[in-house]
Amino acid sequence: MTAAGLFEPGSLAALAAERVREARRNGALQSIATELHCIDDGGIRFLVRVLASLKQKQREAQAQADSNARGQDRANPFLPHDPRLFVADLTPTHFCLLNKFNVVDSHLLLVTRAFEDQGRLLTPADLDAMAVVLAEIDGLGFFNGGTAAGASQPHKHLQLVPLPLAGEGHGPALPIEPLLAPVLAAADLGEPATVPGLPFRHALLALGGLAAADAAVRADARPAMPYNLLLTRRWMLIVPRSREQVGGIGVNALGYAGSLFVHDEAQMATVARTGPLRLITEAAVAGAPTATVPPGGSRRGRIGWT
Ligand code: AMP
Repeated sequence: MTAAGLFEPGSLAALAAERVREARRNGALQSIATELHCIDDGGIRFLVRVLASLKQKQREAQAQADSNARGQDRANPFLPHDPRLFVADLTPTHFCLLNKFNVVDSHLLLVTRAFEDQGRLLTPADLDAMAVVLAEIDGLGFFNGGTAAGASQPHKHLQLVPLPLAGEGHGPALPIEPLLAPVLAAADLGEPATVPGLPFRHALLALGGLAAADAAVRADARPAMPYNLLLTRRWMLIVPRSREQVGGIGVNALGYAGSLFVHDEAQMATVARTGPLRLITEAAVAGAPTATVPPGGSRRGRIGWT
């Protein structure tokens, strides 16, 4: 602990790993076992995980029933949060929690200490918290901006999964990255670019490093449409969304990183038949890829890092 009560720089990954070990022992973590498949489509080696156990929604319903039985707020699992899942205070406004129903190890939630609506614009404080975590852990940060973008909880939370997204032999650390690489190599830092292989509206920004965000947004401002934000140490990608599900298969920000989740073999067959790229395309907004102003931002990446 530092004087401000925050974690020691350099210790977040170890803190998270220790918390995972404890939360496994005490039962707070209810990891979901999966069977991993790879599907090559459009230059992306998609990871498709079949949830091997109970459907997540059923598990959440069970957890909700448990917390009701303990007299906890049934509407918000983050306020109060389960202290057994707490990892660290990140900033004065955000703390880090383990995702209770994780599929990948050390799936972290970056949660606002006071209630904020997930439907509001991201703020500099949100991005500062993400910068703190990305500086500690080389991962994929993401935000599901709205229920149509895959958010299931109304209390504002960003998320991070460490890289690689899958173990050895399952392609690149981040499935979508090979498609982005040539665009990033030619891109100006902080200038929106588009990726020829992504047939839906999006904006990609190459980032030179992590710096404080400088956006000034009204506390009650909302994005023009649901969207997913993906953030790494090297780039950010914004994808406006049209729908949460395609053919019964839910898509969140991880889908646009090349990682999908299905509940059973029938859904797996749907993904294979439809093609994962078409699936995420149908959940996005049709039209020629265009480097429009990202939701809540300006052309110079004011909501992110340049
Ligand atoms: P999203 O579904 O993108 O809104 O992310 C919210 C995440 O919170 C889900 O992935 C859930 O697994 C996770 N979650 C649900 N209940 C809890 C809880 N009580 N503690 C920690 N994480 C939770």
